[in-house]
Order: sequence, then structure tokens, then C-alpha cells
Amino acid sequence: MVARLLVPFGGSAPAAHQLGKQHLGGKGANLAEMAAIGLPVPPGFIIPTTLCARYYEAGGRLPDTLLAALADGLAHIEREVGMGFGNPENPLLVSVRSGARVSMPGMMDTVLNLGLNDETVAGLARRSANPRFAWDSYRRFLQMYGDVVLGLDHYLFEDALELMKDDRGVTLDTQLSAEDLQALVADYQAIIEKETGQPFPQAPLTQLEGAIGAVFGSWRSDRASVYRRLNDIPESWGTAVTVQAMVFGNMGETSATGVAFTRDPATGEKRIFGEYLINAQGEDVVAGIRTPQYLTRAAREKASARDLSMEEAMPAVFAELAGMFETLERHYRDCQDIEFTVQEGRLWLLQTRSGKRTAKAAMRMAGDMVDEGLISRDEAVLRVDPAVLDQLLHPTLDPAARRQVIAVGLPASPGAASGAIVLDSATAAERAAHGEDVILVRVETSPEDIAGMHAARGILTARGGMTSHAAVVARGMGRPCVSGAGQISIDMDARVMRVGSHSFPEGSIITLDGASGEVMEGHIPTIEPELSGDFARLMEWADGVRRMKVRANAETPEDCTTARRFGAEGIGLARTEHMFFGADRIVHVRAMILGGDEGARRAALAHLLPMQRADFAEIFRIMAGLPVTIRLLDPPLHEFLPSREAEIAEVALSAGLSVQALRRRLVELHETNPMLGHRGCRLLISYPEIPEMQARAIFEAALDVDQGVEPEIMVPLVATARELELVKAVIDRTAEAVFAERGRRIAYTVGTMIELPRAALRAGDIAAHAGFFSFGTNDMTQTALGISRDDAGRFLGDYVEAGIYPRDPFVSIDAEGVGELVAIGAERGRAARPGLKLGICGEHGGDPASILFCEGQRLDYVSCSPWRVPIARLAAAQAALRQG
Ligand code: ADP
Ligand code: MG
Ligand code: MG
Repeated sequence: MVARLLVPFGGSAPAAHQLGKQHLGGKGANLAEMAAIGLPVPPGFIIPTTLCARYYEAGGRLPDTLLAALADGLAHIEREVGMGFGNPENPLLVSVRSGARVSMPGMMDTVLNLGLNDETVAGLARRSANPRFAWDSYRRFLQMYGDVVLGLDHYLFEDALELMKDDRGVTLDTQLSAEDLQALVADYQAIIEKETGQPFPQAPLTQLEGAIGAVFGSWRSDRASVYRRLNDIPESWGTAVTVQAMVFGNMGETSATGVAFTRDPATGEKRIFGEYLINAQGEDVVAGIRTPQYLTRAAREKASARDLSMEEAMPAVFAELAGMFETLERHYRDCQDIEFTVQEGRLWLLQTRSGKRTAKAAMRMAGDMVDEGLISRDEAVLRVDPAVLDQLLHPTLDPAARRQVIAVGLPASPGAASGAIVLDSATAAERAAHGEDVILVRVETSPEDIAGMHAARGILTARGGMTSHAAVVARGMGRPCVSGAGQISIDMDARVMRVGSHSFPEGSIITLDGASGEVMEGHIPTIEPELSGDFARLMEWADGVRRMKVRANAETPEDCTTARRFGAEGIGLARTEHMFFGADRIVHVRAMILGGDEGARRAALAHLLPMQRADFAEIFRIMAGLPVTIRLLDPPLHEFLPSREAEIAEVALSAGLSVQALRRRLVELHETNPMLGHRGCRLLISYPEIPEMQARAIFEAALDVDQGVEPEIMVPLVATARELELVKAVIDRTAEAVFAERGRRIAYTVGTMIELPRAALRAGDIAAHAGFFSFGTNDMTQTALGISRDDAGRFLGDYVEAGIYPRDPFVSIDAEGVGELVAIGAERGRAARPGLKLGICGEHGGDPASILFCEGQRLDYVSCSPWRVPIARLAAAQAALRQG
């Protein structure tokens, strides 16, 4: 099919939504779909996403063919509504809206009321018999056009508006008269002419072309780029543009505009949730200019608000709206986030999309929709984004803790967070980069704050409702948020937050409870989340379809306990060296390394043996018979070496060396590139007494615990079969010795990490000595890409931005490269030894995209950090469903 230049929708236009979101953008596709199922949508046309690339190819100009096609699109709208674009008697006004394939809330700018000029405004005033409305629309248009299309600072217009209100002695925009607004229009036009050196373009077609170009142009704006990077949206997708007949919520007391969710996006309950404003337009509801009113009576009563809910103020229209919500939910089979406008009692739908929701709400909705027969269990499992589970798994405030509540706002996004107050986005990003927990405190947020919101642990705003920018974005990011805390004020000059007479300088610690809306002074203790109810039910469905097992990377008793509580089916990686850093141990570890001869090493190892045995016994006891993979000593040596004077003296003493001799030894051991140095199996081969001690500790512990433990002993950093063969011989020999001493045997396996490219290639010979493979994709990524993870921070951002790697390859597996090595390793390993057990450990084991990849390779299990176990369980279930 030839890509169409314009796709009309509404009225007599044929159904077009089959062209899909990739072509029409999410907003456009859903508008076309709502029109096709008979819902009231103002007619319009969509300029497809493909034109966005052509706009950039043409150097930021609209292609001529598009300019020619605009007349057809406008003619469609004019026919449907019986008005004329630029007609001074009966002017058609349009909105110009952006919309990428996935919704990017607040990222792209919309221009409303386009088509107004000094002539058509008079026509609009006459036809509507409402000059105030006409001038209000015109001043809104000038402001949006000036901001979005001409790139002028919106403060210029806001200041002029404030001045006008001050001058007239009023506080609300709605209190300005038609004459006031007409004067404001003149002010705005003067601002535009002064700032751009050109008069405001009066010709509607020029306005339209300008606005379409601005929508395309905004696709590459900084704020859109940041959002895309954070959400892995490729730049190549582009945005569509929707041009649509205006409907007006600002025509008086029987007009309104609002936003609604068909279910509560915070709790998931099946009840209409949303806000509206009488006599308002577009973004007034979310912009925090006036405080919006509730949609339902129940919500208003619960909040003890005075202003009537829509259900009470406009009962007939509300009933109609509620009916449409049912239709939309049945059609899309999901909770919808809807924009609507009421023009003189007549209802119009302006947008629908799948409603963003908290993790808790996602669980609840998925479960409820299964109960309602709307979706199947498998669909429910696929509905919940595993990444959002993170929110659920994080602690909430300890209800027993003393709270010094300093302010209360709206509970905009759940979760609890403590941190230092920061007052702007750049400071938030900077301080968070230094490892500080920060709370971003703003009057209200805007898209420029995205990076700071992402860096912050929580967000607090003084203004804005439950659907304000701050609330929507925070929920999407899983950050706790309290919005509209009206008691707080912010003094940017003094850099303090004030509550009444109290001052909190930037840097003061506060705590937010996004579930109650409370803001508290200081740091407040938290408690672990409850993992029953909707969560447990969904996880049970997920576990029912999951094929891969999920294990955890853990070695401390706390982490092992957490792992089990979160449903880990074993330990996939217990890093023995993590047990070596304790104050009572490190000195012996250092003595072992630095001792210089076997006798000294054995003496140090003798100190470590009982400690390791106790550690392993503890793990085996907690894991109660579940598989446990223990990796022998692995890390680069320098991680263990003493550097401070006091440490050097202490180690010298314990290793029986002079400080001078120890220093010489340190120089000898210095490595230029420790990551590729004397580590892993290389160390085990040089000093066989190390694997001997570790194997002995493992076997003795397993025998002591006596719970059917079958330890899996893992040899790290193997490149060749011979390396594994040598270390395995030490382990087997030790096993025989221990079993003979104890007069009892247990089953065990020896396997290896596959983490070097050579190991993947030679997996066939390595498998001859291995009972299992665990793909260590952290080091495999470092060695396959030749990128040190510790140094990658400086340039990896550029790489991802330039599209060299689609995502940070240390977060999400580089499926093409590292993935191919995994595929080769799996295939050759299995060919040599059918039934070879295969797993993955490292960061990728908890990343949903990488888990999907692992399912494709039919790995037996993934192993990840304990906190990510539920994420991995759900992601593995989704992977199983997707791979079929
Ligand atoms: P965003 O993606 O920021 O939500 P939208 O294109 O949805 O941008 O529009 C911004 C606001 O303008 C919304 O409140 C929307 O409902 C309103 N709006 C858009 N088009 C029209 C229209 N044709 N008539 C009335 N209001 C509109
Ligand atoms: Mg917006
Ligand atoms: Mg919208």
C-alpha cells in the first residue's frame, strides 16, 4: 500500500485505525478507532509518522506534496462541521496535536484554536454570541502559538496575563471580561512582534503549516529526547500530527473539560477517577491553574471538597460519559485514560489510551479483569510490566514510627521516600549522581524536570492535582509523589522551602508518603511490603506458565532469606569473595594472597576454613535443599590488597613479613589490567590450596546441614577445557578426602561460568568436564565488547544515543553479539553433553528483555538479585507465553 499523506477520520470518513499506531501514532489511531465505533469524536485528519522523517530529510521543511494535500484534509473537516477554515463569518478552528507510536505524556506540544485571526475572532464572537469566549480562545491561541511554534518564552505571556489580572484586581483567568481579553490579545501580538520582529501570521494556512512543522520539530526537542532515552523509544519512529476540529469547553457554565481514568490508577479499584473544570479548555485541568473538581460524588465527598462533582453538576452528561467508559473498556479490554470536553452540554471524546497505573493498581486491574471475564489469565500475566513490580517490592513507612507531619498534599504516586530537599532539576540530577538521596521539591513540574524527577527518590509539588504532570510522570516512573501540597512555598532566591513560619533550607531531610500525601520532617523508618493478595495471585498465574526457573544471586543470610521470600528457586550465584571482606576475615585473605609461599598461604587458609564452612552451612540451611551454586574465588586481586598504611602494617604482622617485604610483594602483585589479570581459575590453578579449602568448606557444610543439599561448585573465568579439568581434579580429590573422613558421601556437581568468548566457542570441549554452565554475561559483555564496565560510564551514553548499542549492554544483553556467544555456548555445550544444565547469572538475569532472550535460548534458569526475583518470575512467564 502506498503510504497515504493524510488519513481523515470522523463523520463519513472510512475507518482508518487498521493502519495502526506505528503509522498514525497512538493518539491518532485511537481517535480514528473511537470514531469508527461510533463514539463522538470531532472530525479531523492525521499526518502519518512517516512524514516526520521526510520533514527532517527536507531540512526541517514540510514536503510540497503534503502542503498540497492539506486542502483535502481541511475540506473533509469543513464538510463534516459545516464551517470554513479562515471563513470570517463561520470560522473553523482546529487543534494541531502530536502523537508518537507510544504515548509520551507532556513531551510534545499541542496548539489549540488555530485559525483565529483579527477577522475570524469577530466571526466567532458573533456566531457564538459569546465575545468573551472568542477573545479567550484567541489569547490562548496566541500564547500557544508564540510558545510552541515561534519558540518564545511562555513567561512573557504569563507575565502579561498576571499584569492584566493585577490591573483589573482579579485572581482568576475566568474573571477577566471580553474587553480585558481583547486588550490582552493586543498585548500578546505586541510581544510576538517585538520578540520575533514579525507580526503574528494572520493567514490560517500559514498558521497551520507553522504548527505542523513545530510538532515535527518538537520530536527532536531536548525534553522529548530525554524521555525517549529513558524509555528506549527509537528516534526513527517519529511523531504523527493530528489536525482536528476544535470543540470548546470554555463556552460558559454548561461547558467543561476533563480527564478521567475508567479505574482508579493508584489502587486499581473499578470506579471512575478523574477531574474536570467548568468553563475551561485543554490543559487547564492538568496545568494546576485552577484547582479541578472531582468527577464523582463519592470522590468529592471522600475529599470533603465543596465544589460540585460532575456527577452532581451535569448528571445527564456524566451518565453519558460513564456509559462511554464502559464501551471503551469493553472495546479495548483495558483501563483507559480519557480526555473529554463538554461544549454547551454536548459531550466529545478527545483522546483515549491505556491508563498508566501503579504496580499495585496493575495487579488489581489484571486480577479483576480476569474475574470480570474481560481477559484471560495469560493476558493478565502479559498485562503487567515486570519493571513496575519494583514499586511494590519497595518498603513503605513504618506505621509505628513517629511522624512529624509538616504538610499534606495529594497522594499522587505511592511509595515512601526520604531524602534531601532539592529545588531544581539540575541540582537533583547532580546530587543524586553523587549517591545522595534527594527529594525534588517544585511549585509544579514541567517536562523540563524529567531528568531531575528520574534522579530523585521522590517528588513534592506545591500545586497541581492527581493528573498533574508531576503525578502522571511520577506514577510512570514509580517514584513516590505528593502533589498540590498547598501549604508549602518555595523561595528560590534563599533556596528554602517554607511551611508557615518554618524554613527548610535546601539539603534538609524530609520524607514523603505517596500513599497518604503526607510530608514529614526527617528520615522515617520503613517496613517491608506485603506480598499477598493480588500480587500473590498474579505471581501464581505467572509461575503456572513459566518454563525457566528463577534463582537469586545471594550469599548473605539476609539476601538468601529475601530471595526465598520473593520466590527464588535456588541460588544461582553465591560469590564466596563477598564473604571475605568482613573485618575478621580480610586480614587472613590478605595474608593468604601476600604470604609468598604455600606454607604461609595454608596457614591463612586454615583461619578461613571454619568461617567459610559456617557461611555455607547457613546458606544451605536457609535454602533447605534447593539448589545452590557456589562460585570459587574470582575477583581481581587488587580488590583485596591493602592500600592504607595501617592495613599494610596489620597484614605484614599477620603474614609474618616485614613491612618492607610486604611492600615489595605489593609491587610484584601490581597488575596493569586486573580485570584481565590473575583472577578466577587462574588464581585457583596457581594456588590449588585455595579451591581445596573452599571445596572442603562446602562439602563439610553440606554434610553438617544434612538436608539433601547437592552443592553445585562453579569455577570462574575458564577459557579452556584444561583449566576446568585441573580445578575439577582438586575439587574431586577434596570431595573424596572429606567423604572418607566423614564416612558419608553426598552428590555434587562441578560446572563453570561461561564468561569469556573463547569459553563460548570451545563450549564443546569444556562441557566434557562440566555438569552445568552458567553464562556470566557481565564479564562476557566486558570481554566481548572490549569495554570495561567501570570505565564505560564516560562514553556509553554517547554510544547509546548514537544508536551504536540500542541500550546499555550491561543492563540489557547485547543480543546480537554477546547473545550470539551465549547461543553458540549453549548449542555446543548441549551437543557435547545432552541435558547439560544452563543458566545465566549477573545483571541480565533480572532484566526482562534479556530474560526473553534467555527463553529463546531455552536456558534452564535465570539468576538475579533477590529484589528482582519477582520481576524475573513475571518476565520469564511472559517470555514463555511470547515464545509460545
Ligand atoms: P497531550 O499529549 O499533551 O495530552 P493533546 O494533543 O492531547 O496533548 O492536547 C492537549 C489538550 O488539548 C488536551 O487537554 C486535549 O484534550 C485538548 N485538545 C486537543 N485537541 C482538542 C480539540 N480539537 N478540541 C478541544 N480540545 C482539544
Ligand atoms: Mg501536553
Ligand atoms: Mg492528551
